[in-house]
Amino acid sequence: MLVQAYGAHAGDKPLEPLEIQRRTPGAHDVQIDIAYCGICHSDLHQVRAEWAGTQFPCVPGHEIVGRVSVVGAHVSGFTVGDLVGIGCIVDSCKHCDDCGAGLENYCDGMVGTYNFPTPDAPGWTLGGYSQKIVVHERYVLRIRHPEEQLAAVAPLLCAGITTYSPLRHWNVGPGKKVGVVGIGGLGHMGVKLAHAMGAHVVAFTTSESKREAAKALGANEVVVSRNANEMAAHTKSFDFILNTVAAPHDLDAFFVLLKRDATMALVGAPSSPHPSPQVFNLIMKRRSLAGSMIGGIPETQEMLDFCAEHNIVADIELIRADEINDAYERMLKGDVKYRFVMDASTL
Ligand code: NAP
Ligand code: ZN
Repeated sequence: MLVQAYGAHAGDKPLEPLEIQRRTPGAHDVQIDIAYCGICHSDLHQVRAEWAGTQFPCVPGHEIVGRVSVVGAHVSGFTVGDLVGIGCIVDSCKHCDDCGAGLENYCDGMVGTYNFPTPDAPGWTLGGYSQKIVVHERYVLRIRHPEEQLAAVAPLLCAGITTYSPLRHWNVGPGKKVGVVGIGGLGHMGVKLAHAMGAHVVAFTTSESKREAAKALGANEVVVSRNANEMAAHTKSFDFILNTVAAPHDLDAFFVLLKRDATMALVGAPSSPHPSPQVFNLIMKRRSLAGSMIGGIPETQEMLDFCAEHNIVADIELIRADEINDAYERMLKGDVKYRFVMDASTL
């Protein structure tokens, strides 16, 4: 079936309206009428060919929410009309150790929601800046938030799980001092989630304009990281730091804030390397540098249920499809509190 979408024909071209093909749902497939799709910084990295291997036309979007409109004959978990979400994963091998552990995000055969090989036309996956998507039911998430919150639920499908998973993996909770670096789409979710998990949360931002706003998200303290004195006040005090920054920057400024044996996990994926770390900042206190990528399907459902229970959604600015190019420019300037979400009815 042909559906309307928004995408780009080259890395240096703006996004524009496109018509794309979606497969006829198979026995295990769910077809979703997309209501909203969040705008992740990864969408920008990919569609502008800042990462290797972008296929064009490229239709980004992996923070998808909507309603089930068709189910295949063997679909057991969903019925027409259900409120559902699709995140960054639309397929995986389904039989490796990672898939068996519910960590499809680390499966070597993981198929991302856009720009991954698929038998469907045109040969690579096309994402959520579109009216409909067809996905195997294993990768469909159930949304338990009230429908009025649907647009603000969309960013949970990437920004939410990408911050929830490392916060859980590194045992963030009561009695722990946790830093979140970069208060954008991911970072603002990291602050909300770490706060809901009971940690003492410190938000690190380069934007003076976010100092008060970050407190409203649940940060106990806010540090403007350009201010050396403010940074020094937190030396050797953190149990864990989650770094979401989308650009290369000085990691050592944050390593020295970790306690002995503590970890900084990077989730930001800049297109060129960081200029650090200094090995001595790691070995002197047995500190660790780690990374983390989105989360598996069971943990994504766990995160959505945790957010529904704690009444957590993203802080969003709703836009039309024809505002996506402007939204990218504003995202690069840090001029969004904190996530753009596209209304798919404007496609
Ligand atoms: P975003 O909304 O643009 O937020 C990034 C934040 O980083 C900005 O708001 C800004 O926060 C800070 N920042 C930006 N440039 C900076 C610089 N030069 N120096 C210091 N701070 C800077 O982006 P996002 O959607 O949250 O995504 C963040 C990164 O995570 C991207 O690289 C994205 O590709 C990646 N990502 C990774 C995964 C994963 O699985 N690991 C998943 C999704 C996204 P302040 O204004 O507060 O300083
Ligand atoms: Zn994303």
